[in-house]
Amino acid sequence: MKGLLVLTALFVAVFGKKTFEGDQVLRITAKDEAQISLLKELSEQEHLGLDFWREPIHESLPVDVHVPFHSLQAIRAFLGYNQIQYNVMIMDVQVGLLIKLFEREMVKYRSFPRSTDDFVYTTYHNLNSINSFMDMLVAENSNLVSKIVIGQSYENRPLNVLKFSTGANRPGMWIDTGIHSREWVTQASGIWFAKKIVTDYGRDPVLTDILNNYDIFLEIVTRPLDRMWRKTRKPNSGSSCVGVDPNRNWDAGFGGAGSSGNPCTQTYRGPSAHSEREVKAIVDFVKSHGKLKAFVSIHSYSQMLLYPYGYTSTPAKDKAELHELARTAVSALQSLYNTRYTYGSIITTIYQASGGTIDWTYNQGVKYSYTFELRDTGRYGFLLPADQIVPTAEETWLALMAIMEHTRNNPY
Ligand SMILES: [Zn+2]
Repeated sequence: MKGLLVLTALFVAVFGKKTFEGDQVLRITAKDEAQISLLKELSEQEHLGLDFWREPIHESLPVDVHVPFHSLQAIRAFLGYNQIQYNVMIMDVQVGLLIKLFEREMVKYRSFPRSTDDFVYTTYHNLNSINSFMDMLVAENSNLVSKIVIGQSYENRPLNVLKFSTGANRPGMWIDTGIHSREWVTQASGIWFAKKIVTDYGRDPVLTDILNNYDIFLEIVTRPLDRMWRKTRKPNSGSSCVGVDPNRNWDAGFGGAGSSGNPCTQTYRGPSAHSEREVKAIVDFVKSHGKLKAFVSIHSYSQMLLYPYGYTSTPAKDKAELHELARTAVSALQSLYNTRYTYGSIITTIYQASGGTIDWTYNQGVKYSYTFELRDTGRYGFLLPADQIVPTAEETWLALMAIMEHTRNNPY
């Protein structure tokens, strides 16, 4: 009983006051445009408290929605009445989260890593633990890694970036994870990538050559927050709903279709482009650096590799090359565990999305701009079991290496 109380207290501390007891995640399969419209109307009903993990866009794409317990009956009735197909993906969101927390606590009490060799890569970590990982990595590899602070979050947490560098004035490649904080497998993969880079430098000839010519910048916690939350934490004036979607806030088709002007939606674009500190920090960094040649922004979930554009159907001028490289990268990824990815431009592969990160970086001249949606395809969604962290990171690394190697081989 005491253990349960401790866990509940922990849950409240980590996820805010709200609990998710009895909440479910439903996968809804609309059969036509009319049903998609009904689902879109549903998503506007704020009192239902729905959280769309995958938004209703087109009947070819499943819709995943986290339904709070108090709305379950109403939603089931609505779907039944309209003959919209669905099935339950996650029976009880609270249970899924508690298991994750429990695992994390067990690891914490079992091990006090004194070095990044002792660090447990097979579990999800909280912010403190990720920060101490970064500090250890820098201390152990001070000739190769340093930590730079590119800004502060709305809650005044430092925005830390690991810089892997073997010489001055090099062009750079950028990787970020965790711009949507609830996409936990991305930060966990970022940690693994960091360790992989220091391990492989001097051993793997391709990575060694890349690092002898380019710096790699890795922002593991792009939106420092330890919760099941997508947006930033900035209050919106005139609304009780908090936060802006940092992947709709960039000055690339800002305000266009595929972003929302409603602060209560998950894709709220914000009052103006780059209004969010977490976004502005990267904007300033990219501009002041001036020599980034690849930019990879990593999300979950859906198993996709995407390139610009999202805001317009006009093809990117490097589309043919970006497409071919995406093909190479996903086939490298698939070679390890046979995980299948789809790939293409954002607008043709998923949907029109305006104000996205890599559209902006591409328009800044960073040709090799990509975004990943890591595992899975919705069985667990954001609650991906921890035993998939390392396999996800390992396979993704192969795709990242393909992109970085191509960038090195094709200077511009
Ligand atoms: Zn995301």
